[in-house]
Amino acid sequence: MNVSDMNLIFLGPPGAGKGTQTKKLIEEFGFIHLSTGDILRQLIRSRDTLGLQAQIYMDQGKLVPDGLILEMIQTKMEKKCGYIFDGFPRTIDQASALDKIVPVDHVVYLFLSHDVILKRLTGRRVCEKCGKEYHIEFMPSSLKDSCELCKGRLYQREDDRPFVIENRLSVYEKQTKPLLEYYHEKLIRIEACGNVLSIDQENIKKIGLSTHKAMSQCCS
Ligand code: AMP
Repeated sequence: MNVSDMNLIFLGPPGAGKGTQTKKLIEEFGFIHLSTGDILRQLIRSRDTLGLQAQIYMDQGKLVPDGLILEMIQTKMEKKCGYIFDGFPRTIDQASALDKIVPVDHVVYLFLSHDVILKRLTGRRVCEKCGKEYHIEFMPSSLKDSCELCKGRLYQREDDRPFVIENRLSVYEKQTKPLLEYYHEKLIRIEACGNVLSIDQENIKKIGLSTHKAMSQCCS
């Protein structure tokens, strides 16, 4: 199957590495990346009204209402296929709305332990200018508190603070995990906490893509 005929969803708890793993597939295969979290953060940075409305929910670790998310995602979609949805859908209502817009071929579910999630999220730092992510332990910037790409200041996301993380995880359990059942026929399960992972040759084959290049990542 060609990338241009396919849509993939990446599903998993906060900290599973959805962004990192999808970026690999995008570079390799040319998918269009639709990360609702990234789009929202960009809207906040540009002081957009929708972004500022969303920020109130995000800072508390809650989901942004479905109506806002669907409005936002539709403005970003010009084609029927070729997308990787990252962090979307996150509720059954979002999933059934997506079903009415485009077909979904595979849902890649990244799973990992609670301890690893906490370690990844509490150590994450993000560039305030370009959005590039680092980790204080696993992927520190060589410029300490500044971004290697644009020299922007690195900050800790409001929703990566410990008490907000707990909230995000419980929201995930209640509102997003039911999607595993919703998509059970399309699910590809990948463990996301080993040393070398995740979207390797075998998983790429499962998704129905072929490549000669190996893809792997050190993630802890
Ligand atoms: P992420 O970067 O994917 O972890 O998203 C960060 C935050 O943005 C989430 O905790 C939510 O508050 C919000 N968000 C991102 N995607 C969605 C979505 N599909 N539905 C509702 N809220 C979302």
